Amino acid sequence: MTPVWRLAGLLPPVGVAVFAAIEVPTAAIDWVRACVILAAAIVTTELVRRTQTVRRNEFTMTSVWSVAAAVSVHLTLALALVLAVCAYRYLRGNHEFTIAWPLVAAHFAASSGAWAIPTLQANTTRVVAVAAAAATHLIVNYALATIGRVLRDRRVSRTSFGHIADIGLDAALLTVGAVTGVLMTGTPVVVLATIPVVVMLYSAATTKQLEGTAFVDQKTGLANAASWQAYAERVIADVAQDRREVGILMVDLDKFKRLNDTYGHRAGDDVLAAVGECLKSNLRQADLGGRFGGEEFTVLLPETNVVDTIAIAERIRTAIAALHITTVDKNGVQTVISDVTASIGAATYPHHGATVQDCLRVADNYVYQAKHQGRNTVAGISTENIVSIRA
Ligand code: GH3
Ligand code: MG
Ligand code: MG
Repeated sequence: MTPVWRLAGLLPPVGVAVFAAIEVPTAAIDWVRACVILAAAIVTTELVRRTQTVRRNEFTMTSVWSVAAAVSVHLTLALALVLAVCAYRYLRGNHEFTIAWPLVAAHFAASSGAWAIPTLQANTTRVVAVAAAAATHLIVNYALATIGRVLRDRRVSRTSFGHIADIGLDAALLTVGAVTGVLMTGTPVVVLATIPVVVMLYSAATTKQLEGTAFVDQKTGLANAASWQAYAERVIADVAQDRREVGILMVDLDKFKRLNDTYGHRAGDDVLAAVGECLKSNLRQADLGGRFGGEEFTVLLPETNVVDTIAIAERIRTAIAALHITTVDKNGVQTVISDVTASIGAATYPHHGATVQDCLRVADNYVYQAKHQGRNTVAGISTENIVSIRA
C-alpha cells in the first residue's frame, strides 16, 4: 500500500469526527486531556527513538495513546489526536499509519454510544466492549502485517506470521493505553505513570530482540554488517513494487591507518565510536547506520531520492569533519582529535542496481572516486545524470 492509500483509509473516520463535532461540542476538559495525551505520545516517541538501534514495527507506539484518547475524550478530538500523532511521526521519518476504525469502536464502547465521554464508570459491559475493540485493532493490524509480508515475499512461510512475542507486547501496550484512558477521566496526571511503563516495556522487548540475534556492532552501537544487510534487503523488498527510491551510502574514514599509528588503536576505537554516534544523530527514524567492517560504515536511507541522498551524505561528511573527540593517546596522555574526515560514496536504488549488493558496489566505487578527488568528499551521480533519470 502506498502512503496515499493508507491516508485514504483515515478519511472516513475523519468524516465521522466532523459529524461528531457538529453533533456535540467539545468540552474544555477534553482539550486538556487531548493535549496531555499528545504531549505524552511525543515524549514517548522521542525517548524510544534514542534507545533504539534496530527498528521494529511500531504501530502500538501510536495506538497506546490513541486508545487512551478513544476512551477518555470527545470522539472528534480522539481522531484529531490520531492524525496529529501520525503527522508528527511522519515528519520524524516514520511512514506507518494506524487504523482508526477500531478506535472509533473503542470510543463508542467506552461512552455507551455517545459522541462525548459521559462520566465514565468502568462497568463490566464497557470493559469487555473496549477490550473487544482493542483486540480487533490488534487482529486487524496483525493480519495486515502478515498479508504485507506474504505479498512482499510472494510465499507463505513461518516468518510471514511475525514473532508471537511482538503480539504479546502489542496487547500489553494496548491494555496500558485503555487503562490509562479510564484513569485519565479521573486526572490527566496519570500519564506521568504511563510514560515510563510504555518506554520500559518497549525497550525491554527491543533489547531482548537485540540480545537474541546479536544485531549490534559493539564498538560503534550501530547495526552490524549482517543485520544492516538484512534490514536493507527488507526495505528494498518493501519498496520494490512501486519503485520508491532508497539511498545507500558507503562511508570510509580517511587515512585511518595513519590515525592509529599516530594516536594508538585505543584512540582509533574511540574515533569509531564517535563516528557511530555522529551517524545515529544525523539520521532519521527509518534510516539505519551500520558498521560494514574496519573503518567503513554503511547507511540506508529509505524513501530518499538521488538529490536528497547526496544532500544527506554531504551533511554526514560535514558532521564527521566537525567532530572533536576527547581520548587518550598511545602514551596515556589525554588528547583531542579533530581532524577526522570521511570519503562517502552515494548510490540510489533502483537507479544504481536491483539489489542491495549492486547498490553497495556502486557506492564503493564512488568511495574510490572520492579518495582520488582528495578525500573528505562525497561522490555520487552527477547533476546532469539526475536530470536524465528524472526525464
Ligand atoms: P584511506 O583514506 O585510503 O581509506 O586510508 P586508510 O588508512 O583509512 O585505509 P586502509 O584500508 O589502509 O586502513 C584501514 C585501517 O583501519 C587499518 C586498520 O588498522 C584500521 N582499523 C580497522 N578496524 C579497526 C578497529 O576496529 N579499530 C581500530 N582502531 N582500527 C581499525
Ligand atoms: Mg577502508
Ligand atoms: Mg579508510
